[in-house]
Amino acid sequence: MEHAPTFADILAARNVLADHLPATPMWSYPALDELAGATVYVKHENVQPIGAFKVRGGLTLLAGLPAELRARGLVTYSTGNHAQSLAYACARFQVRCTVVMPTSASEEKVRAVRGLGTTVVLDGADMTAAQRAAERLATEDAGLLISPGDTGALLAGVGTLYLEILEACPDLDAIVVPVGSGTGAAAAGLVTAELAPRCRIIGVQSSAAPAAHDSWRAGTCVTRPNHTRVDGLATGRGFTLPQQLMRTGLSDFHLVTDAQIATAQRILASHAHTLAEGAGAAALAAVLARPDRFAGQRLAVVCTGGNASTAEIAALSGSCDVVVGGSSRSSDHEPTTTSVDPERR
Ligand SMILES: *Cc1c(COP(=O)(O)O)cnc(C)c1O
Repeated sequence: MEHAPTFADILAARNVLADHLPATPMWSYPALDELAGATVYVKHENVQPIGAFKVRGGLTLLAGLPAELRARGLVTYSTGNHAQSLAYACARFQVRCTVVMPTSASEEKVRAVRGLGTTVVLDGADMTAAQRAAERLATEDAGLLISPGDTGALLAGVGTLYLEILEACPDLDAIVVPVGSGTGAAAAGLVTAELAPRCRIIGVQSSAAPAAHDSWRAGTCVTRPNHTRVDGLATGRGFTLPQQLMRTGLSDFHLVTDAQIATAQRILASHAHTLAEGAGAAALAAVLARPDRFAGQRLAVVCTGGNASTAEIAALSGSCDVVVGGSSRSSDHEPTTTSVDPERR
């Protein structure tokens, strides 16, 4: 397995990224604070050039890859944003790239990846099947297979966003991070351990795809059904490297429903001038679902991405009834939050 990245690797990644990406903004919004009963800073990774934080990882990986590995070309699998990240970085570094995306991948994301010059192969009903197809392709073409979760350079790269958060706001009570494979949340733990030990990192996943959450609670990587429509969070298994780091780095891990995520997307649009894809709204969804947990605190929620599908954009005009604390006044929301255990630290 990959060596586990350290805080020093994240600092090094920041130097690499300084040539490629400006820091993203982080703002709070009075209307959102009032609704949440807390001070909520939204970290705007939705404004990255690919519309998601993962570009930090892709550029860091490519910049550090020796020429003989670049020459082989990259092969990976993704529901969309990891694909865009590698496609963007490979275009910058003029490296050949092939991505297997599940046949359910959003048209918008497929178009964006192809637009960056990457070959897209649509194969497999879900990520597990897409991974198998990518492994086959890499063997046949001698390509370099990149795991979206178990690749240290990706984790170090995405960690730079937590340096930016804590530099802008050193005295946070918690940072709430949407989790798919867990690279973001794992990196967040490395950064806070160094810069802000009393700031808690809280992971969030969809209850319709709880593999990372359940792996963290079990202390070992497990597989789970993956039925969420929220593609950034749609993983069917735990990933070894981020799970290992999250074990000590995460204070708590919440599940929210896809309906709660949809509501949070609408609230980001109406209260924070922000177009978020589902995964980008999951952190806010977790805060709104547990007001008792977060009342009066200073929080950062990471809006990890803005690549909303046409269907998600259409759904923004739906009922704007607000679900806070799991009590809904609108019949199209499931009012429950699943499984919040006592905190670990
Ligand atoms: C990939 C992704 C996530 C999950 O990140 P991991 O590092 O895989 O846990 C969250 N939000 C968006 C928008 C993503 O693309």
